[in-house]
Amino acid sequence: MQNIIHLLPDSIANQIAAGEVVQRPASVVKELLENAVDAGATSVQLVVREAGRTLIQVIDDGKGMTETDARMSFERHATSKIRTSDDLFKIRTMGFRGEALASIAAVAQVEMRTRKADDEVGTLIRIEGSDTKAQESVSCLPGTNILVKNLFFNVPARRNFLKSNSVEMRHIIDEFQRVALANSEVTFSLFHNDQEVFNLPGGKLSRRIVDMFGKAYREQLAACDEETPYVSVHGFIGKPESARKTRNEQFFFVNNRFIKHNYLHHAVVGAYEGTIPEGHHPFYVLFIDIDPSHIDINIHPTKTEIKFDDERSVYAIVMAAVRKAMGIYNLSPSLDFDS
Ligand code: ADP
Ligand code: MG
Repeated sequence: MQNIIHLLPDSIANQIAAGEVVQRPASVVKELLENAVDAGATSVQLVVREAGRTLIQVIDDGKGMTETDARMSFERHATSKIRTSDDLFKIRTMGFRGEALASIAAVAQVEMRTRKADDEVGTLIRIEGSDTKAQESVSCLPGTNILVKNLFFNVPARRNFLKSNSVEMRHIIDEFQRVALANSEVTFSLFHNDQEVFNLPGGKLSRRIVDMFGKAYREQLAACDEETPYVSVHGFIGKPESARKTRNEQFFFVNNRFIKHNYLHHAVVGAYEGTIPEGHHPFYVLFIDIDPSHIDINIHPTKTEIKFDDERSVYAIVMAAVRKAMGIYNLSPSLDFDS
């Protein structure tokens, strides 16, 4: 009998993996912004065209890469962020799977310029559908400048599956806001078709919220702070009168990672009970810090769900934190937005 099993070439394996990591332009935006933050950038620029269909570019002033690292960064399971399985339980970076760049490069035309501050020249790499087209020295600023063009150029089915530009742009803005909220000390900007959508100087979280969601929040935020040995909660909630009919100004971060959590959302809403009209939703940006051994980060590339080993305690603490913030907001001194 003839054997029939063979290993897939990297380009096909990458394209299959890309199906998981890269669902739409916003997935690329998330991965590239997280890489910039992981690289210690103090300033990150996001430029998109046609809602990311033709161009997604991220320019950072982070630590950049050597020529070898630049090449390696596009290999699958290639990462600088973990080494051993123990490291999996103390992840402090946003990335760690080493899959994003390989996946993106499998389904787009990618051009990356990167340079370490101490190096005289940088490296330019061009890859199309996992095929390296060029690798050469180039003069460029320290940091990394990556362009992702014509996403899904080689996967028409995926391309056709994309929604309207306004829907895709909404997803991009969601990802941008999540990363920008989790890293308020970093300067972020977003340009769409040459128009500035956001320009957010680095500073305090309260300032970031106001820059992002509008000056009205200057008067409408209440600080939320609660600490227990198991978990700590900090951030801001909107005063009841700032509640809106839309649900997209509600953010939970666990150990600085954006998550969706219906049960905890319920805890916040419960704390507002009776203070906001039916059909309105409170504003909140809450950061939950907890020892990583008490949580199970779903390691699926794009999932934003998480499990706590003692979910009821987290629920009670979040609710108490929000109640306390609501109780004291009238007495609390006005917030300082200037730095
Ligand atoms: P991961 O972030 O999970 O490690 P990626 O495929 O996103 O995997 O990136 C692979 C590696 O490339 C990273 O571990 C990092 O060392 C490097 N890298 C990616 N983007 C940047 C960047 N903007 N600046 C510096 N290094 C980067
Ligand atoms: Mg990454």
